[in-house]
Parts: sequence; structure tokens; C-alpha cells
Amino acid sequence: MKPNRQDMPVQEEDPFDRLRRTSLFRGDRFCQWQQTTLGIVGAGVVGYRVGLETILSGARMRVWDFDIGQHVNEGTQFTRKGIRKVDSLVAACDAICPGRAVGMAYDIRHAGIGEIAQLNMLIDCSDDPALAIPLAYLSNGLRIPLLRLAVDGSGEMELGRVLCSHGGAGWACQMCTYDFHDLFRPTQRTPCPGQPINGRPPTIAGGALAAVIGGFGLVQAQRLATGNDLDQVVNREIVLDMTNWCLYPLSRQRSNSCLSGHLCWKLTPIGRVASELTFAELFDEAAIRLSDRQVTLEPYGHAFCIEAICSCGARREVIGTRWAKPPDCLQCHETMRWFDWTQHSILTKETVAELQIDNIPLSEFGLPRAGAMFVARAKGARPLRLLLD
Ligand SMILES: [Zn+2]
Ligand SMILES: [Zn+2]
Repeated sequence: MKPNRQDMPVQEEDPFDRLRRTSLFRGDRFCQWQQTTLGIVGAGVVGYRVGLETILSGARMRVWDFDIGQHVNEGTQFTRKGIRKVDSLVAACDAICPGRAVGMAYDIRHAGIGEIAQLNMLIDCSDDPALAIPLAYLSNGLRIPLLRLAVDGSGEMELGRVLCSHGGAGWACQMCTYDFHDLFRPTQRTPCPGQPINGRPPTIAGGALAAVIGGFGLVQAQRLATGNDLDQVVNREIVLDMTNWCLYPLSRQRSNSCLSGHLCWKLTPIGRVASELTFAELFDEAAIRLSDRQVTLEPYGHAFCIEAICSCGARREVIGTRWAKPPDCLQCHETMRWFDWTQHSILTKETVAELQIDNIPLSEFGLPRAGAMFVARAKGARPLRLLLD
């Protein structure tokens, strides 16, 4: 899109004049970058640097990280002890240009699908193996590209990589190389917000390596946004080994038998918010849309737990997703944990009636605050992806 000449600021006053003349933005593509909103996962050693450059170069972002800065981070990350990492990043971004960065101090898996659908791309800087599959499904489903940036966190090599996954647009996704075992490969479980990091090893990587990999990622993001040199991004994983000075632009092939199925979602917004909608109403809505009374509902990424457990051994029947605040123990008054072995990922009208939750607003159960998605199914019909406001 070519900006209207009359709307263009006087050249010497435009802070982006020199940037727009670089090869990445050739062909008048800078305005595409300016209109891009990135979803950045992780505001740590890599994510902070990518985020700051994103705002400095004129794009927008939403950033997710529930981590709180520690003293031990202060040599590699721009954070302070006791301050949420997203808050440090958003404050630094606001100092460059107020209002272009929005921070969320919760896990990206608890974000509403409607919220993520507004993004132009996802950049995972968390290096959390537990996010690999959920983010690939989101990227494929919503047809938005996903870049995964990682540094070798063992401290043994100055090594990192930038992988592009874009299965929703006909290219390779990161699951194209996965086999059945990869789906069940144990990953270090991400701790819930506010809970101790249970044995997850610390990332031993310096700011120099993070800045280089962040820069590689930013180049790829700008190519994805502008379409310039797209062949250098899609179907590629770039590995940089600075210990031996080697750069590997690896090829990734799209697989027709990819376990993700490269499923693209068609969303059906229903114009209702979770605080003003009950399960009874949602089942009725789904039944009308699918012309069938026997429907099931799957709250996407938000299975319903029906009990909580405590380290003292007590159990308590209580209903909520694992993103809801767990209840306090009636015996020892400590905060309990959601018990996920008995959770329901598929709900029927009978189940919600039995659990006596059919007439309670959906917002009471720990669903995303906005844009939650429910997959509604009925026999012989294509599933509907109902999207709340
Ligand atoms: Zn794939
Ligand atoms: Zn207890």
C-alpha cells in the first residue's frame, strides 16, 4: 500500500526515513511493518530485545510473560527484582512511543483465541518446550506465521536458532517433522503463574547471544510482514553457531502427513461475553446453529477440573479450569492445586447439569477474559468454533 504523498511528513522530520530506505523495506513496504502487530511470547533474555526493537522500528506488539524478575536475571535481562518482566518491557517501550506495547502477565495458552486472531504473527521467545505444540496449532488454525527463537541455554555454546512455522498458509509447520512419540515427549512442565519453578533448569545464555538471535528473528519478522525475500523465511530454520562461526540455513519441507493436519479454523463469533453467558445458553446457541439438540462443547485449551488436591492430602470438589485461582484447603488453609486427572475436556448438557454449573456465568470458571473459543460438535456436522467476545 503506497502512502498518500500529502499525508507523508516532511522527510527530515520522519524518524523512519532511514529505516524505510533499507533493503528489508524496499518497494515501499515499510507501511506494512508499521501496521503489523506482533504477539511476543516471553519478555526475558530474547523477548525483551525483540520487543524493544519492534516498537523502536514502528510496529506494535502484545507480549505475554507471567515471570517476575529476580536478582539473578539482572546481568542478562532488563528487569528488576520483584518487577514483572512484561511491566519492565512495556515501560521501556512506552518511553520510546507510548501505547504501542501491551503486556499480559499470564500464560499465552490462557489468552483468548479472539485476542490472538487479531495478531499478524507470533514470535515465541520463551524457549518453553511445552508451548511448541499449542503454538503450532494456534498458528496453523489462525493462519498466522509463527517464529520460534531459541538460544542454547546450556551455557556450553554460543548457539541459537530461528524457526519459521507457517502451516496455515501452505508452508512447513514445526510439527511437519514430528512423529507420534514427539506428541507425548515429556516436557518440563511450565509452572503456573505465581508457583515455584519446579526444577526447571535456568537458561545460561548471555545478552550478546540473545541480541544476535533477537536480531535474526526481527529480520525474519520484517520479511514476513513485508513479503520481501519471503523465500528466506518460510520453510526455513536458521541455525547460528557463533562458537565455530557457522550459519546453517536449513530447509524444512511441508509434510502431507503432518500430525497437526494443518487444520485451519473457521471462527464463528457469537457476539456474547463470558460474563453474560451460561452453559445452558451456550448449549442452546450451539444446538440452533448445528440444528441438533445432542451437541458437545469443548472449551479450547481450558478443560474443566472437578476437584482440587492439597499437599496435606485433602481433596475438595470444586469446578474450574486450571487457569482459575485454586481454592484454599478447608483443613490446612493452604492454596490447593487443580487435579487434572479427572478433568472434562468435552462437556455435554447432561454433564454440566450434573455438575450444577449450567446456570452460572462462564466467566466464573477461569476462561480467557475475552475471546474464548468453544468447539461445538454434533453427529454428521462440521464442528463449529464458537467465539465469545
Ligand atoms: Zn506441519
Ligand atoms: Zn491442606
